[in-house]
Amino acid sequence: MVKQLCILGSTGSIGTQTLDVARAHPDRYGVYALCAHRSIDKLVAQAQEFRPAVVCIADEGLYEELNRRIEAISPDIKVWAGSDAIAQVVAMPSVDVVVAAMVGYAGLRPTIEAIKAGKTIALANKETLVVAGEIICELAARYHTPILPVDSEHSAIFQSLVGEDRNEIEKILLTASGGPFRTFSPEQMRSVTAAEALKHPNWDMGAKITIDSASMMNKGFEVIEAKWLFGVEVEKIQVLVHPQSIVHSAVQFADGAIKAQLGAPDMRLPIQYALSFPERLASDFPRADLLALKNLTFEEPDLNRFPNLGLAYEATHRGGNMPCVLNAANEVANLAFREGRCGFLQMSEIIAETMAKTSFIAKPTYEEYVATDAEARRIAAEFI
Ligand code: MG
Repeated sequence: MVKQLCILGSTGSIGTQTLDVARAHPDRYGVYALCAHRSIDKLVAQAQEFRPAVVCIADEGLYEELNRRIEAISPDIKVWAGSDAIAQVVAMPSVDVVVAAMVGYAGLRPTIEAIKAGKTIALANKETLVVAGEIICELAARYHTPILPVDSEHSAIFQSLVGEDRNEIEKILLTASGGPFRTFSPEQMRSVTAAEALKHPNWDMGAKITIDSASMMNKGFEVIEAKWLFGVEVEKIQVLVHPQSIVHSAVQFADGAIKAQLGAPDMRLPIQYALSFPERLASDFPRADLLALKNLTFEEPDLNRFPNLGLAYEATHRGGNMPCVLNAANEVANLAFREGRCGFLQMSEIIAETMAKTSFIAKPTYEEYVATDAEARRIAAEFI
C-alpha cells in the first residue's frame, strides 16, 4: 500500500530530504500535501515534480502568487494559506503520515491536530515536545497515535529499543557532536559570529537548529524530547560528546547491556526509518566504514562553556511551563544572534533571565502554553 505523506516544512532541510526518500520509493510513498512557511519558489518546484493534491503556505500574503503559479502547473492542485489551513491539511482523510518538520513553536498546533486525527506522526520538530510534551503524550495515548522520531539520536534510541518490549531502561546515552566550538575557550566563544556558528562539522541542517547545535541548546532540547518520547526521567539521560557523530545514541539496560545504532551522519536514514518502520528499505546512503575510522571518542559536556544544556535540565526539573519559556526565549535569542543583534554567549544570559522573570504555571493548559510563549518572547526581547 502506498502511504500518503503530508509534509509540514517541505522546503526545509528535513522536508527536502523526506522528498528524496519519497522520490526513491514511489511504490511506497505518495506526496499528498506540501506545506511551507514562505519559500515559494522551492514549493512551486516541488509541486511541479510531485503533483500533490494540496499545497499550503503559512504566509497568507503569498497566497495570490502561489495560487497563480500552481494554477499554471495544474488546476487540480488545491492551494491553501495560513495557519488554520495547515491545521486542516494534516487531518485530511487521505493523509496517512504527517511529517512534522516545521521550525520551532509553529509546529505545535498542526502536530496536535494531526494527533487528534489519528495520523502517524514522523516527528522532526523537537520544539513541539519541549514546549508541551505532557499534552502531546496524553493526546497521543488517548487517540492511539504513533509518534515516530526523526531526530537522529531519538531514532537511534528507538531502533535500540526494537524487540525490547517492556525491558527496563537503565540509562539513555544521548550523543552530541559538540558543534563547531567544542574546543573553543570562553574568550574565543565570546566573539564568534553567526557565519562561524553556521558551519557545523558533521551535519547539514537548517540555520536555526545549526545555531542551537553550536550553543548545545539543541542537545538540551533533545534531553527533554527523549524524556517524553521514551518515558524516562532526565536523571537517566546522559549526554556524551562524541565528535565523530557515528554512534547516534544508545540505550543501557538493567543487565548492563548497551545497544546503539551507528551509521554515517545522514538524516535521510532516520527519516526513511520513521516512514518504513518496522521494515528497513534498501538505500544508497553513504555507509560508515568502521575500518576507516581511527577512533570513536566520548567526553563529558562542559556545562560552564555550554550553559544552555544546564538551563534545559533546570527547565525540565522545574517542569510546568518552564520548558516552554526556555524554548520561546531561545527562539528570540537564536534569531537575534543570527541577525547580529546579540553575542553568542549572550544567548544563554537572555534565556536564564527570561526563565527567572516569566510567570510559572505548574500544570498549563494549551491556552496557557500559548500565553506563556507570548509572555516569554516579550520578556526575552527586552534583554536584547
Ligand atoms: Mg539531533
